[in-house]
Amino acid sequence: MEAIILLGGPGAGKGTLADALKKDSSFIHISTGDMLRAAVKEGTDVGLAAKDCMDAGKLVSDDLILQIIRTRIGKKAADAKLMFDGFPRTIEQAEGLQTFFAEIGGTITHVLNLVADPEALIPRLCGRRTCKTCGAIFHVVNMPPKEEGVCDLDGGELFQRDDDNEETVMNRLEVYKTQTAPLIDFYKNLGILHDIDAGSTAKNSELLALAALNA
Ligand code: AMP
Repeated sequence: MEAIILLGGPGAGKGTLADALKKDSSFIHISTGDMLRAAVKEGTDVGLAAKDCMDAGKLVSDDLILQIIRTRIGKKAADAKLMFDGFPRTIEQAEGLQTFFAEIGGTITHVLNLVADPEALIPRLCGRRTCKTCGAIFHVVNMPPKEEGVCDLDGGELFQRDDDNEETVMNRLEVYKTQTAPLIDFYKNLGILHDIDAGSTAKNSELLALAALNA
């Protein structure tokens, strides 16, 4: 089993890049944020345990995250190609993933580090809109849908995530800086980190990511 990791602050464009990379490849997209939001919506035990942290922009416990990752990957085929989006978020999670992959014979081939100015991420997040049905991501200014509030892909209703408000966004940026950014050195030391300039357009990030994956 092989995996790539999309690393980067909130709003750096991990979800948009994941959607783009999925189009031309067989990656299985694993977004812990999407999994947790689904669990909250369904009212499962995982959802109940995660909701308060998510609303506050804090991280959910490493144990819970590693447990849902193990369950999600559990019986995937040996030749599956995984794309982690929003996981790992702490050194503990990264070490937990190393342990898990050592058990199942998995390899992390690339870590794509989306680099963007934190100041630029605030308007990006506050203007983000997501399709209720297919999860496609738009932005009111940078990537507006053809018709306001309506998904271009399937006509679904676009909504603003609860945690994309300015106060929670500030918390998420702080959490990124203190708990997630140390992963940059962790993966640099493993020789698999590739910096991707995420400061311009989504298309540009996609081209840079493809170049890194194919180098
Ligand atoms: P995201 O959609 O990746 O921005 O995640 C939304 C929220 O879900 C985060 O602000 C955290 O509260 C929680 N979350 C998602 N992934 C993780 C993770 N790997 N570790 C801890 N919390 C997470």
